[in-house]
Amino acid sequence: MRSLTYERLFIGGRWEPPATGQRIAVISPHTEEQIGETPGAAAEDVDRAVEAARRAFDEGPWPRMSVEERLEKVEKLAALYAAETDEMADLITAEMGSPRSFSRLGQAAGALAQMHLVAATARDFPWLERRPGLFGDVQIRRAPVGVVGAIVPWNVPQFLIMPKMIPALLAGCTVVVKPAPETPIDALWLAEMLEEIDLPDGVVSILPGGRDTGERLVRHPGVDKISFTGSSATGRHIAAVCGEQLKRVSLELGGKSAAIILDDADIERTVKHLKTASLMNNGQACVAQTRILVSERRHDDVVDALAAMMSSLEVGDPADEATDVGPLVAQRQQQRVRGYIEAGLAEGARKVVGGTETPHERGWYVQPTLFADATNEMRIAREEIFGPVLTVLKYSDERDAIRIANDSDYGLAGSVWTADVERGLEMAAEIRTGTYGINMYTLDTTMPFGGFKQSGIGREFGAEGLSEYVELQTTVSADKLPDLT
Ligand code: NAD
Repeated sequence: MRSLTYERLFIGGRWEPPATGQRIAVISPHTEEQIGETPGAAAEDVDRAVEAARRAFDEGPWPRMSVEERLEKVEKLAALYAAETDEMADLITAEMGSPRSFSRLGQAAGALAQMHLVAATARDFPWLERRPGLFGDVQIRRAPVGVVGAIVPWNVPQFLIMPKMIPALLAGCTVVVKPAPETPIDALWLAEMLEEIDLPDGVVSILPGGRDTGERLVRHPGVDKISFTGSSATGRHIAAVCGEQLKRVSLELGGKSAAIILDDADIERTVKHLKTASLMNNGQACVAQTRILVSERRHDDVVDALAAMMSSLEVGDPADEATDVGPLVAQRQQQRVRGYIEAGLAEGARKVVGGTETPHERGWYVQPTLFADATNEMRIAREEIFGPVLTVLKYSDERDAIRIANDSDYGLAGSVWTADVERGLEMAAEIRTGTYGINMYTLDTTMPFGGFKQSGIGREFGAEGLSEYVELQTTVSADKLPDLT
């Protein structure tokens, strides 16, 4: 087993002693025992990393290299990563409690796939274009946006770093990554791999830390762009700070997605898919389908089928292959989710399965909990719970289903379950969310992903995700431009 303790921070591509003695203890959500420890980055460390990134961007070779040269580095990183994905998945499970099956596919393999997919997108990207303009041919250049601060949460830590760091690097940016304090170890292991590919000085830093570390990075005048994934509350604050400085910002935020089950849906198939679409990663997923909308006609059948599925889930050690639902990331998250279950009961929803009793003596577990007879005004229907809690809501007709689905501050994802795909597409066109699923909900990580409304600004994945890391430069010329080779 690798050492899970780090003494240094990865600043500008080198392992440097941290400026202060701040330490981050990583506690297993399953055993509640410490599994490792890393330094926590202080303001001085952020300053050093941004200064190194600034120098590397303004004067260093990285933004001046060809895309092919940068691709070679990313391909090397992907090759190193490929040899470690299972161990990386197990480490993430140990850090934050994601069940092994999800960690292997959704976390580590997903992160590796991102490297390959972004590389493929970069190969076909129109870095330089010629367009006929008013006075002759014009050059459109996609220039790197500059120094990027990438801030990510703990729920899918590696999978969230990649769609920021990899497109930024391929565009020629330099990057300071700030992982969440719950998952600093996997991030510093990634730093070890980055060290091996021998990037020019200053190109990447990885600085685990909490709110203060992130805040310093967001406020630093040397950073050109912040790319943030996390809660809508933090996103709103970060957007405001970036707005003051006219700093570029993209935001991937929370969700409260509605799964609309139409009367012609195959309930067995629907509930089988919702097991993952609603409860993946212990319910700690921004795209989780947590509001289940059903008509009076199919209501009881859907509630019964969901109750049977949820009460049959294996809740336990996330390292066990058979586990469906592991512990939540931290005790405060366990308390928060239990608070929502209490709020649901207090507001008059009916608990069908689950509840606030802890299923295991140790570990930050919450029982998978299903509410019925709820209304869309209740907190359990409006707020992102981030745990294994689902709420069934009744609609009167399809217009009403659309109204309820859209009656949310969020607009990240949604789904419709129906025998009629045409009808599914018509529903999708009425729903104000950035992604939508018909008889499935899963991310297609080659396609644009992001939120409407308070679920975010900007897109990740695909060519749109790469576009977040470039500025457009238009060059006109009195003389004919040479052809592009
Ligand atoms: P959070 O907003 O509390 O923290 C996210 C990150 O921001 C962490 O690294 C944290 O240390 C940092 N941070 C906190 N305050 C900051 C500040 N003032 N300035 C700069 N950085 C700061 O979110 P969380 O609760 O840890 O993560 C879960 C949230 O992330 C959920 O709302 C979830 O929906 C969202 N999420 C969204 C997506 C998406 O792609 N849309 C993906 C995963 C998670």
